Amino acid sequence: MMRAAFIGLGNMGRPMAAALARAGVETRGFDLNASLIEAAASDGVVAARSLRDAIDVADVAITMLQSGDQTLAVWREIAPQGRGKLLIDCSTIDVESARAAHSLAQENGALSVDAPVSGGVAGARAATLTFMCGGAEEAFAAARPILEHMGAHALHCGGAGMGQAAKICNNLMLGVTMIATAEAFVLAERLGLSHRALFEAASISSGQSWSLTSYCPVPEMTPASPANNDYKPGFMTTLMLKDLRLAQEAAARAGAASPLGAAATQLYALHQSADQGAADFSSIIRLIRGE
Ligand code: NAD
Repeated sequence: MMRAAFIGLGNMGRPMAAALARAGVETRGFDLNASLIEAAASDGVVAARSLRDAIDVADVAITMLQSGDQTLAVWREIAPQGRGKLLIDCSTIDVESARAAHSLAQENGALSVDAPVSGGVAGARAATLTFMCGGAEEAFAAARPILEHMGAHALHCGGAGMGQAAKICNNLMLGVTMIATAEAFVLAERLGLSHRALFEAASISSGQSWSLTSYCPVPEMTPASPANNDYKPGFMTTLMLKDLRLAQEAAARAGAASPLGAAATQLYALHQSADQGAADFSSIIRLIRGE
């Protein structure tokens, strides 16, 4: 039987570890917050007492943490016990830290994959996440069946760090199209055009996007839209802002122009500072409306 260590049992990690356990993978969970370890135990995830206790008997270790610094801190501890094992980081972090994590694994004889996710907490609960993966072919081939227990799609995007690159490029598009969609609905309101009429016209025209037809920022247009539920997340404004900042940092390093990304970053930062950090990011329409 495959044995996994799952490190970081927060909003995403807990349901992901639970999905692994449901799939019959013996999963040991660890988090700095002991109450989360206890909570995960009720999902069939064995409580680990330490990082070492989690990794010792595992064939694969998965990390789901908040930042590049956290991933590197944990990988520095687990990589020395990683010989012959597979290390997967599912956190959304900067490309440089992801590459540094791969190097740590390589130096210690472990296979490694960066595998950030799209799909949020709902996707984690339903095990329908999309994993965007970077790393060697061999490492991806080993990771794929494990990731498929937690998600619907696992895509190999290229070498070390390319999963993170795909994720931030995707969220750059998402952050910007959501603002454009919100602007169009607010303009429609001012012009006397109904939400329904704009939605129906643009859904089958060239303004169509996922932000419009799956996640519309005004209520009653699309069934899964947080707008239907007073913008309860969903995907929090703070997390969108985090990802846009990562995209801006990457663009600066790579010498790529990202003027709309820069503007979107500023708008979500303004929205967050108006106490909207915990609201779904599509609530940016409130800022555009001047609420
Ligand atoms: P979270 O803050 O709920 O969970 C992170 C957990 O990591 C915390 O419980 C924390 O205690 C734990 N942790 C930190 N350092 C640790 C250490 N050294 N050892 C053990 N545990 C440690 O965050 P989240 O919402 O689950 O997000 C996790 C990652 O997934 C982030 O990188 C985020 O950007 C990304 N992500 C989140 C969402 C979402 O909707 N929440 C969607 C897509 C991607």
